[in-house]
Amino acid sequence: MKYIGAHVSASGGVENAPLNAEKIGAKAFGVFTKNQRQWRAKPLSSKNIDPFKANLKRLGFAANHVLPHDSYLINLGHPDLEKRQKSRESFFHEIDRCEQLGLTLLNFHPGAHLGLIDEGRCLTLVAESINLALERSNTVTAVIENTAGQGSSVGYCFEHLRAIIEQVEDKSRVGVCLDTCHAFAAGYDLKSPTGYQKVLREFDDIVDFEYLKACHINDSKKDLGSRVDRHHSIGQGFLGLDFFKRMMKDARFDDIPLILETPDDDLWVDEISLLYSFCN
Ligand SMILES: [Zn+2]
Ligand SMILES: [Zn+2]
Repeated sequence: MKYIGAHVSASGGVENAPLNAEKIGAKAFGVFTKNQRQWRAKPLSSKNIDPFKANLKRLGFAANHVLPHDSYLINLGHPDLEKRQKSRESFFHEIDRCEQLGLTLLNFHPGAHLGLIDEGRCLTLVAESINLALERSNTVTAVIENTAGQGSSVGYCFEHLRAIIEQVEDKSRVGVCLDTCHAFAAGYDLKSPTGYQKVLREFDDIVDFEYLKACHINDSKKDLGSRVDRHHSIGQGFLGLDFFKRMMKDARFDDIPLILETPDDDLWVDEISLLYSFCN
């Protein structure tokens, strides 16, 4: 079964996110548990935590179908120790918040080398950061998102995801979120029927579907291999509707959150119902 939703607003408090998800017909959702442009936030209190948990339960959202996303400021592979430390503290803080809310996943972009170290070193630093975060927490799985490869970001190829996972000690608490726009922009041809099968076979060989904990389902404003991260509404970009039809019928994407990060939130209701119509 597919669990489709969108990255919804938590404005007024994280407890509102499940209500916003329910309104658009979602069975899963993504959310920021704090302002994504700040390093820290004031701690969650029972005023947020209790209604959040109650709303999840009442509306039937499973904890593993909620995909919190960390702050855009965090760079777990930052070459500078002091700045990496700041990112790590903020990441620990995000994991804490997820655990307080009873959630089991935290989605993040791996990091960027900023032209100061090589990619391999950057991937090792990201893995070290994950190891430290897992040591300091109990239940949350660190979910690495593939990137479009814009600027100096790592994580644009399956080998990078594998290299990070390989260096994580507790493999039961590391996973991957596959962003369809990012993969396509990074040069993975998911659009053609043969390309689709080939790319996913490669994903399985290199990363393994066992680690796939979530997907971001976005069309792309830029063409294959552009390495530019610009999401488009479903069917309006270079990936096109046939790709999403194929994906919605593919059992390898069952039972994980499939989250829209498409730019026009007025379309989310229609996008979700369209995607569900492809599942049958
Ligand atoms: Zn994404
Ligand atoms: Zn993106």
